[in-house]
Order: sequence, then structure tokens, then C-alpha cells
Amino acid sequence: MDQNTMQRLAADLGDLELITDSTALQRYSKDFSWFSPVLTEALEGKRADAIVRPTSEEQVRRVAAACYRHRVPLTLRGSGTGNYGQCTPLRGGVLMDMSGLNKVLWIADGVARVQAGARLVDIDNAAREKGWELRLLPSTYRLATAGGFFCGGFGGIGSITYGSIGDPGNVLGVRAMSLAEQPEVAEFRSAEARDLYHAYGVNGVITELEFALTPAMNWQEAVLSFPSFMEGVRFCQTLGRATGVIKKLLTLLADPLPQMCGLGKDVGEGRAAVLCLVNRAALEAVEEIAANFNGRIERQQDNAEVYGTAKSLVEHTWNHTTLHILRKHKDITYLQSGFRPWENVEKVEQMYRHFGDEVMMHLEFLKADGAVTCSGLQVIRYTTEERLNQIIQYHRDNGVHVSNPHTYILEDGGKLSVDPGQLAMKQRLDPAGLLNPGKMRSWDEKGAAA
Ligand SMILES: Cc1cc2nc3c(=O)[nH]c(=O)nc-3n(C[C@H](O)[C@H](O)[C@H](O)COP(=O)(O)OP(=O)(O)OC[C@H]3O[C@@H](n4cnc5c(N)ncnc54)[C@H](O)[C@@H]3O)c2cc1C
Repeated sequence: MDQNTMQRLAADLGDLELITDSTALQRYSKDFSWFSPVLTEALEGKRADAIVRPTSEEQVRRVAAACYRHRVPLTLRGSGTGNYGQCTPLRGGVLMDMSGLNKVLWIADGVARVQAGARLVDIDNAAREKGWELRLLPSTYRLATAGGFFCGGFGGIGSITYGSIGDPGNVLGVRAMSLAEQPEVAEFRSAEARDLYHAYGVNGVITELEFALTPAMNWQEAVLSFPSFMEGVRFCQTLGRATGVIKKLLTLLADPLPQMCGLGKDVGEGRAAVLCLVNRAALEAVEEIAANFNGRIERQQDNAEVYGTAKSLVEHTWNHTTLHILRKHKDITYLQSGFRPWENVEKVEQMYRHFGDEVMMHLEFLKADGAVTCSGLQVIRYTTEERLNQIIQYHRDNGVHVSNPHTYILEDGGKLSVDPGQLAMKQRLDPAGLLNPGKMRSWDEKGAAA
């Protein structure tokens, strides 16, 4: 951004400071894309020219109007825990840190209304005070914001019962703002709200969200071990379907991942590990089902005693498993895949046998359209980008969906197709295409064709 534009922008923003300190610019322009060697290279040097930190919707409106007036790119950031450079500005401009809008507005009748920058841990704690809890949390819940989870995340702790944050009924509505001379603020409900789901913040500025809650529960955390990976898979599939056991988490790690991610004290070498959160009264049932697959409980703890700390097993699941491994091991990267419910066990076994130690199996069991299945966060021994692409292609050729975590382009990371709802929402709320330009290929192609 040239000095002239910066000055005019600053004048429009009034008392809202434009931060241009280079350390801050570098830090705020990054997320956890360093998990991917491909993204690390691709996003090198991409950063904002200035940061703003609004604390009210009125200030957000000022930023949206000023960026529109001066045609300056605007990138939104929650806590920056995304994995694909989601909050990295591709073409400079202003980065708006939404974490100052952090109020829990109200909680009533199993619903929480919050500002977009509220941290999930704070929402969850506020809900628990009233006998409720959030249905879904990413393993980064201590830092992650409501807006960042909805626009960048997928699911996590709770997905074994509630699926994804984008499933109908989990997020009931959002309040979102346009980029315009006079920004429009509108409430979107149900399907319209979901047009802003997982859009990487490129089709509207969300200022508030409404989450459906679930009654608070006394959760017990348990580590189990199994002599073989496939016995672990069959146990998870059976426990996932066991209707009498209330579940919040069901994670499976093939040998040697338990050793690599710091669970070596709990799980002996050569064994597969299962980490789960179940209602306390169900532990005997879990033990009984595990015995059918030659498994045993190795350790258990009360979730309430470790909630919000690194001691919780939650912080060894989802992408926290990858994080622990990356901290200790070089030449490692990961994959994100989805197995179809009617064939997940069979396909998992096929991939496991085909790749052996090169693609180490980390599975998160979850519900998809009401059925139990699993997604993979496989840990890969990285050699070259070409080999990584071959691994991805083999999965796709065999009916395993891959949400490629090695691209920063919205469509390439997810459904591999244009989402007409997302595109229409962008046309409505960001007609000038200023929200992190370069991220949404379908928009750029539409512009090029016009
Ligand atoms: C170790 C680790 C573990 C993880 N585990 C999980 C997991 O279990 N489940 C999961 O789903 N993800 C997981 N993630 C990814 C990430 O932590 C989550 O998606 C998290 O919810 C992102 O929240 P955030 O506030 O950090 O968002 P950010 O990273 O700041 O932003 C994410 C996206 O949302 C957009 N955005 C932010 N705020 C707004 C807003 N107000 N309006 C519009 N757009 C906005 C941003 O532009 C960006 O594109 C993990 C990541 C790491 C590094």
C-alpha cells in the first residue's frame, strides 16, 4: 500500500490505530501453515501493510467502509491458529484482528450468542455456568475464536456426536457486514448463514454468531491400547455406534504415533492407542467393548480436572497430534482425508496396508450424515512435493476424499468445486472483491471472464 493511501485510510479510521510495526505485521500475517513444507514456501513474504484492532461493531464498520473507499484489501483474523495460511494476506492491505470483539452476549435455552472474536474456551465456560456446553470444539479451543472456527475450521472434540460445525443445527445464525461505502449489516439464518461457513473470511465480515449448545456432562478421559491397528479401528467403529455410550471424542493412533506424539508412557511400543472422552458412567461399557478387541484401558482422568490445560487428552488429538510430532521430528507432514461411512473400515485398511510406515494412520471418528465414519489426519514421512501429490492422488483414485492442507486456495483445499452459495454471498457482501483477494479461485475466474 502506498503512503498516500495509508494516510487517507488513517484519516478515515480516526482514533482507530493503524499498526505498522514490522514484527507485528509479520506475526499477525501468519498462522500454522508452517505444518506444510509446500505452504511455507508458497506463503513466504506474504504479509499485511497495516493491522487494525477494533473493539466494537461500529469500529469494524469504519474499517469496512474505509477499505472499500480506498480499494484496499482486507484480511480477517481471529487467533491465527488456522493451518492453511487462512489469515495470511495474499496481496497486502489491512489485516483486521477480530479478537477485540470478544463478548458472550447471552446464553439461554441451549443457545449462545457471541461476538465473533470471543474465544471458544470463554464461551464454553460461560455456557457451563448455566448447565450447557459447546457441542464442538477444535483442539485449539483455548485460543480459537468463534468466527475463526466457523470460517476456517471443521469440527473436532464433539464431532463423534455432532459432526461438523457446518452441519445444519450447530450454528443457527450469523450477523455479517459488507464492504461498501455504507456497509450493510445483516442477520443470516440457517442455510444462508452456512454460505459463510468455511469460506476463509472472503465473503463477509462476521461480527456475531449463534451456537446451539448441548447439556453439560461429566466427561471422563481415557487412553486405551490395542495389540494391532485394525483391532483399534474395529473397536472405534463399534464404540462409535454404541448408542448407550455418550461420546465427545474418539481418536485412534497407529504405532508408532503414540510414541512420536508423547504418549509413550501410556502405550507400549508396537501398540495402537485410542483416546476418548465418554460420559463417566460409561467407562465399564468401554472396557467391555475394548476387551472384545483385545484392548485395555491404560489410563483415565476426570476431564473437569484437566479442562483448559495441556494435560487434557484433547491436546493430543486432531491437529494437536501433528503439532506434537512436528515439534520433535523432522521431515514430517500430514494429510486430511475423509472416509465414506459405508466403506470406511475397508478403505482405512487398504490405505494402511498400501502405504505402510510412509503414511502413519491418525484417525478421528465422527458422525457424517448420521453415520459413524472417520477422517484421517495421517502423518506422512515427507520426501518431495511430487511424492506428496502421488499419495493424495492414490487416496482420491480409491474413493478417499482429501481436503488438501497444502494449498491456500479455498476451493483446492475443500470440496474441489465452486460453492454457488459462497460465491453469491461474496457478490452480496464483497462486490469489489477486497476480502483477501487471491484466495477464492472461482471469484477470480469470474472476474477474469467478465
Ligand atoms: C494444533 C492445531 C490443532 C487444530 N485442531 C483443529 C480441530 O480440532 N478442528 C478444527 O476444525 N480445526 C483445528 N485447527 C485449525 C484451527 O485451529 C481452527 O480452525 C480454529 O477454529 C481457527 O480459529 P482462529 O480464531 O484461530 O481463526 P483464524 O486462524 O484467525 O482464522 C481462520 C479463518 O477464519 C477467518 N475469520 C476469522 N474471523 C472471522 C470473522 N469474524 N469473519 C469472517 N471470517 C473470519 C479468517 O480470515 C481465516 O480465513 C487446528 C490447528 C492447529 C494449529
